[in-house]
Amino acid sequence: MPKTISLLGSTGSIGRQSLEVIEALGHTVTALTANRNAELLEAQCRKFYPRLAVCMDTDAAKTLKIKLSDTDITVASGMEGLMEAATLEDTDILLTAVMGMVGLRPTLAALETGRRVALANKETLVCAGDLVMDTARRCGGEVIPVDSEHSAIFQSLQGCRDRGEVKRLILTASGGPFFGKKKEELERVTLQDALKHPNWSMGAKITVDSATMMNKGLEVIEAMRLYAMPLEKISVVIHRESIIHSLVEYCDNAILAQLGTADMRLPIQYALTWPDRTPGPAAPLDLLTCPNLTFAPPDEENFPCLALAKQAAKAGGTATAILNGANEIAVAHFLAGKLGFMDIPRKVERAMNRVSVLQNPTLEDILAADEAARQAVS
Ligand code: NDP
Ligand code: MG
Repeated sequence: MPKTISLLGSTGSIGRQSLEVIEALGHTVTALTANRNAELLEAQCRKFYPRLAVCMDTDAAKTLKIKLSDTDITVASGMEGLMEAATLEDTDILLTAVMGMVGLRPTLAALETGRRVALANKETLVCAGDLVMDTARRCGGEVIPVDSEHSAIFQSLQGCRDRGEVKRLILTASGGPFFGKKKEELERVTLQDALKHPNWSMGAKITVDSATMMNKGLEVIEAMRLYAMPLEKISVVIHRESIIHSLVEYCDNAILAQLGTADMRLPIQYALTWPDRTPGPAAPLDLLTCPNLTFAPPDEENFPCLALAKQAAKAGGTATAILNGANEIAVAHFLAGKLGFMDIPRKVERAMNRVSVLQNPTLEDILAADEAARQAVS
């Protein structure tokens, strides 16, 4: 059945792949959003013809409005525009593929309307996972993961009627471009080195997060929130080949996993079609030619971001929003050439030590913790 989709972050890596999936499935688009890339957003609007197009940046929105003046597409800007895109009527699914904590409020607003949210934006769950999942439960909305590991777990949980039967969730990690390096070497790596991910082509922020292993730390927290699992029941294993996307170990020691090529179009599609499966554009996996599968323990000593994320997960409350906010700014500074690679964990740790943690936070508490963490880094 064709569905209508509002896509936040359509000009990004996940956004562009989502449009390929949407086109292949014959779904339609009600809203598309970007931050500044008015040029690509215009091209996407001319192809998919949404009712609403939003640029977060007001100048970019002005440019887009002029570009689209020969159409009847409404152009909006800022958080107000994102909120409108998230709650448009006659929309079946919100696909949140923006980068960063900016995805939180639109995601909550869409869940309040009781609709499905296909969620790529992990920062939302890291900062306010309990609030997001509670809102979904209270309003009858659904959160379906797009992140490949969480989609693999979601797929491996199909048919599980009692979560008490789950012994452990096992998240796989590629280890990123710096696998095997020691702290001293990591002090000297460059931005260019960090942006060379061995298996996945992604946006700059998540590529750096993969290099520091913060991405896996954020994903541990994301899994805790999505599947209501304590930290002790979540393990991380390095799997360089990125073929097993994650696993679920059950109480009888059976392990179920999802395998496939490193192609985000599969988890994107499953989040849109679940509980059905349909043919789609993701590349098939050939077991006879794929590399041997290897596994190794993660190295928290040389990659302290994973340990910091676990520390924040243990502390609970606003600690994970502090971790995330500090990381977003530290990575932005690294991308701008203002910080070294190993300054990222140092800045995150400093913010975690400086900003005090509140338990059972409201949305306002979370937004304030995020802001305080950003201040502590800059
Ligand atoms: P990109 O950087 O490629 O794209 C980000 C998108 O969000 C772009 O459309 C960008 O607009 C928009 N955007 C950025 N900042 C803002 C802002 N402040 N306000 C509004 N919109 C903004 O990121 P990815 O596609 O790689 O990642 C998106 C999310 O998905 C992240 O949370 C990431 O962790 C998650 N994810 C990504 C995966 C991947 O393979 N890429 C895998 C799993 C999860 P513009 O183009 O104008 O800058
Ligand atoms: Mg992932």
